[in-house]
Amino acid sequence: MPLEIVTIPCLSDNYAFLLHSTQTGETALIDAPEAGPPLAALAHRGWKLTEIWLTHHHWDHIDGVAELKEATGAKIIGAASDAARLPPLNHALSNGDTYQFAGHDVQVLDVSGHTVGHIALYVPAANAVFTADSLMALGCGRLFEGTPEQMWHSLSKLAALPGETLVCSGHEYTASNASFALTIEPQNPDLLARIADIEQLRAAGQPTVPSILSLELATNPFLRAHLDTVKAGVAMPTAEDAAVFGEIRRRKDAF
Ligand code: ZN
Ligand code: FE
Repeated sequence: MPLEIVTIPCLSDNYAFLLHSTQTGETALIDAPEAGPPLAALAHRGWKLTEIWLTHHHWDHIDGVAELKEATGAKIIGAASDAARLPPLNHALSNGDTYQFAGHDVQVLDVSGHTVGHIALYVPAANAVFTADSLMALGCGRLFEGTPEQMWHSLSKLAALPGETLVCSGHEYTASNASFALTIEPQNPDLLARIADIEQLRAAGQPTVPSILSLELATNPFLRAHLDTVKAGVAMPTAEDAAVFGEIRRRKDAF
């Protein structure tokens, strides 16, 4: 694989990622919850940070930017539509843009909902999408700024990517997401099998992120609001998909 991905645990339960080209030596950091762990990961591999991609404005995704910029001179890249709330950007991206990294396409998807202006970055050559607090392992971000309709639309874009895509999301919330998912689909055999895997990983101190999109489609209740079985399960058999999604999100907020 010409592009290598490294998962970096940060703070108490955040993930940042390094994306490294073995051909050009360029290295991008996706989100900067803090500077120390990314700098250690770079030093350990002898990589030089060339850019930082920001998914959204929350502090737990940007607080390390100033120190990383100071230490490495990396250029900062993020959403044009949210530039006012992000650290100063060297390059601004818009929905539908294709950005070039180390000779590879990076597709920019607006995935507003958790915040307005949240972006996801899809890198076909790495078989990966960086979703932060939009689509998460067995979950999705809380709707702090957007509407259920907006988030459902955002998740639908991510759901349409190839099934083998790695979902590189922003937090280790998977075990508690699993407990909630069981309340929506207690009989889903794929969910039951996945929960056993999650328990093993967490018991061994291993991350559950990245996950695989096809498994999210089979088990993540927030991607399954359009299914008759899920609609029936929340007693909304004839409701619109986005309304069912909104009900599932509301239940999670109160879980
Ligand atoms: Zn966030
Ligand atoms: Fe976050």
